[in-house]
Amino acid sequence: MPLFTELRHELEGYLDNDQVEQIYKAYLFAANAHQGQQRRSGDPYIVHPLAVAQLLGEMRMDAQTIVAAILHDVIEDTPTDKATIAKEFSNEVAELVDGVSKLTQAQFKTRAEAQAENFRKMLLAMAKDIRVIIIKLADRLHNMRTLGAMPPEKKQRIALETLDIYVPIASRLGMYAFRVEFEELIFAVLYPFRYRVLQEGVRKAKQARKHMMGQIETALKECLEKHLIPPSVVWARKKHLYSIYKDMREKHLSLTEIMDSYTFCIVVDSVDTCYRVLGAVHNLYIPIPERFRDFIALPKGNGYQALHTTLFGPEGMPIEIQIRTVDMDRMADNGVVTHWRFNYAEGTHNPAHLQAREWLKRLLDIQQVTVNSSLDFIEDVKIDLFPEEVYVFTPLGEIKALPKGATPVDFAYAIHSDLGDHCKAARIDRRPAALSTMLASGQVVEIDTEPSAHPNPGWLEFVVTGKARSGIRHFLKEQRRDEAITLGKQLLINALSTIGLSFNEIPTAQLKILLKQLDYKNSKELFTAIGLGDQLAPFVAQRFLQHPQANETLESKLEPLVIGSNENLLLTYADCCRPIPGDAIVGVTKAGQGLTIHATQCPRVVKLRKHSERFVPAKWDKNIQGNFKVDVRIEVYNKYGALAQIANTIAQAKANIDNMNVFERDKQCSVIRLTISVSNRVHLAHILRRLRNLKIVTRLARGK
Ligand code: MN
Repeated sequence: MPLFTELRHELEGYLDNDQVEQIYKAYLFAANAHQGQQRRSGDPYIVHPLAVAQLLGEMRMDAQTIVAAILHDVIEDTPTDKATIAKEFSNEVAELVDGVSKLTQAQFKTRAEAQAENFRKMLLAMAKDIRVIIIKLADRLHNMRTLGAMPPEKKQRIALETLDIYVPIASRLGMYAFRVEFEELIFAVLYPFRYRVLQEGVRKAKQARKHMMGQIETALKECLEKHLIPPSVVWARKKHLYSIYKDMREKHLSLTEIMDSYTFCIVVDSVDTCYRVLGAVHNLYIPIPERFRDFIALPKGNGYQALHTTLFGPEGMPIEIQIRTVDMDRMADNGVVTHWRFNYAEGTHNPAHLQAREWLKRLLDIQQVTVNSSLDFIEDVKIDLFPEEVYVFTPLGEIKALPKGATPVDFAYAIHSDLGDHCKAARIDRRPAALSTMLASGQVVEIDTEPSAHPNPGWLEFVVTGKARSGIRHFLKEQRRDEAITLGKQLLINALSTIGLSFNEIPTAQLKILLKQLDYKNSKELFTAIGLGDQLAPFVAQRFLQHPQANETLESKLEPLVIGSNENLLLTYADCCRPIPGDAIVGVTKAGQGLTIHATQCPRVVKLRKHSERFVPAKWDKNIQGNFKVDVRIEVYNKYGALAQIANTIAQAKANIDNMNVFERDKQCSVIRLTISVSNRVHLAHILRRLRNLKIVTRLARGK
């Protein structure tokens, strides 16, 4: 099979025979699957996957990657499925091919979306195995190289997509050679005229500088020889049209300025030699001090290593020199892909290599745990590639970026608060999932809603987004309000019926007047106030008995509110006077706090006289039952067992002690402050009498 010959030659350079045979088998399998399909150019389809495999072979990618590259379009374009590939080859290969197919299917709707960093991160995150991305990049590169036969609009669309998505990814992965070739091809498609003009300009400029370049190159080589530096490679770094174009546009440099700055690369055998070369070239031309950068000691984020220095060349021309080892040079071209090969390279002891090997080892270890490992995988790849975010799809293919740990509830609220408020169940990749399931990148999330479904407070324990949190809180608050309305209305209806009125029979006009008097906008507000205990239903009910027309005397005509006849009353007994049945009492309203019952004699009530509008006449229900707290102050002789006697006496009188404080007034006397529960004034009087009869008691009084 002549088509396979070139690839075979490449592979035999670094893989063993079994692996090459396995790849050959993949070739036969793919050629068969794509049988009869053609590329636009008229070539048989198999030419494309073979070319992709060739690109990866040149980068010395592992055998599984090459097999997957040859099969990369089989799931997408032929009836062959993932299971068949797994059976014929391996699970690993099947996963890779499946990953590439999914990436191919990942569609974006707008250019803005394609440009969005989120989208690229999502693509990266989606690939459980970084080799999926590398295959995809090689696939795209070959497609870009062979755009020739396509209509111009389609070419432009593909070029733009490549620029928006694949160039930044190649860049992040440190795959410089890919990035540069992408950019050159894109530039030619998007701006064919500018491309040709610039190409011609650069050709002429190079011609004019040929002599100077040759001179510098010779000087550098002689200098290295003189310093007995082992054989190394020296070349002038090629200037690429797209980067020239970008510099002209963005840095406002002229073509002459750009062409007048030279960059030479010197590639040597070891790190030690790198530093020796640096010394040598600093002897040849004067260095510009602040332009020296040591990326060997401090590699760039994507792993790039080299020494950079700038020298004053002949005629004061600045010359940038980049010095690196062979491995570093491969790294400069291939980035992450180089890391792959370090795994197989033996006998390297340079820390960067060891670090890279460690990194790769972790990567491969994690890949063993294939299913759903993308997040862990991502976390472990410490190359600043992946954020603390997950990217999921709506059923319509829209991407949502959510913080790590986000759940379907977060997702629902991210789309719309209504969706969150009524979400009932979730499906992840079409399978039912709990609302608290942590989402992973690439999943399709669907939310089932039901009008009667609503957030429950338990959700607050697992949601991670502020939007979901505040959405749930808001709903719960609203819900409490709704419940208050229902309760308040019921309380009022009950209160009205006890005085022979029916809510439905109250004339609207009368209701309106009352609402205005009580300062409520509508009846819902009144119900809420009653339901939350801010307003008393019997008090409101009593007001309907009055004639609102004569409202100037309304207060004085109010019937006293009967305390104790309605169990549901949300009222409090004042701590200051602690009224008990039998005491003359009055209700005092306080905004937001409902009604407080005071004894009429309470000093606070006396103070509040001028705010009599806040007073509600009140009286005890004749049949009132229950325990009421009351304060008692007792002075006793300091005698052993005095407290026990008091406590005993109170217990015998069938009252409970709620609280007791003892203060030693002097050597002879102590003051005991008691809070006891009694049923009424008669009960209290009985207790006080018994206490007074005790010999130890010198003084006794109700109150604090
Ligand atoms: Mn393809």
